[in-house]
Amino acid sequence: MLVAATGAVRLPEEPEGLTGPGWMEKMFTFYNLEGASALACALAPLSSPSSPTGTSPSAASARTSSSHTSRPSTARSRTPIASKTLGDLLEEKGVALVKEFNTGEVDGPGGRLISYDEREVTFDLLVTVPVHGGAECVTRSPGLGDELNSVPTNMATLQSEVKPTIFVLGDAANIPTSKAGSVTHFEGELCAENVERFLAGEAFDESYDGHANYFVETGFKKALLIDFDYETEPLPGRLPNAMGPMPLLEESRLNHLGKPMFQWFYWNALLEGREIPGISAEMSMSGRYRPE
Ligand SMILES: Cc1cc2nc3c(=O)[nH]c(=O)nc-3n(C[C@H](O)[C@H](O)[C@H](O)COP(=O)(O)OP(=O)(O)OC[C@H]3O[C@@H](n4cnc5c(N)ncnc54)[C@H](O)[C@@H]3O)c2cc1C
Repeated sequence: MLVAATGAVRLPEEPEGLTGPGWMEKMFTFYNLEGASALACALAPLSSPSSPTGTSPSAASARTSSSHTSRPSTARSRTPIASKTLGDLLEEKGVALVKEFNTGEVDGPGGRLISYDEREVTFDLLVTVPVHGGAECVTRSPGLGDELNSVPTNMATLQSEVKPTIFVLGDAANIPTSKAGSVTHFEGELCAENVERFLAGEAFDESYDGHANYFVETGFKKALLIDFDYETEPLPGRLPNAMGPMPLLEESRLNHLGKPMFQWFYWNALLEGREIPGISAEMSMSGRYRPE
């Protein structure tokens, strides 16, 4: 019996050119300490009063160009409410999105992102979330990982699709939910249950719903909090229930403060496995609503 919980590694060498000329000078990731420190130095001049973030051509260009995720069309989107809210928020902040842009190549000296379908976006400063892949040990285990070394996993039971005696937890799995601490935590409950059931020869609990929640910093000491699962998009409302206190899908100072506060809560309350009302592996609709 094996539980693979080996996490993910960052693969900045994908796409081609990202770690070439200009890496850590005008092209950055904040996903490690070295990158975050270098980026902070590069951004420092942009936040001076004479050059406010948001009006500086460099800053605007950087934020536009690094946006290689897309806001899905609300007409066809599976997340129309969240897409509209987040899209409106970006518009308010003067951030433009380039949709459906899959970066195939980065031209550092020329300051260009080139997509697989040969479109181009120029940048002065690039901030990127690198491609994630599975851990080195998965690479060394033939047949365990997919093309990015994530372990193929049943999205409802967390049993691997590679071998019945392997279960998978967190970033190591290839299931279609976020790579986030909350996901790993929620999965842990069901994974432990299913390992026990497997050993006892009982039927699996198939109820893992992809539940995820996390804070999204939106700047100026505010943050959003989003809560969703495989089927339910992030909705407005309150967490953990209608009484609050945390606003969902809405910028607030409380959410910004909530992130550091949550660290204490996690280590001192959640990690010990205590039952906390309103925080459960399964997503609850209590306190959420769908706007007209
Ligand atoms: C910069 C950054 C910021 C993030 N911010 C947030 C956030 O704000 N909110 C959020 O929810 N999530 C955030 N995440 C994501 C979150 O950290 C991960 O989703 C979460 O840690 C995944 O948990 P995991 O247990 O699957 O993997 P990990 O926490 O990565 O743990 C895997 C462990 O396995 C170990 N390991 C790997 N191979 C072996 C081996 N062969 N032998 C022994 N040990 C091995 C690794 O060293 C590691 O300790 C962030 C991630 C990064 C990188």
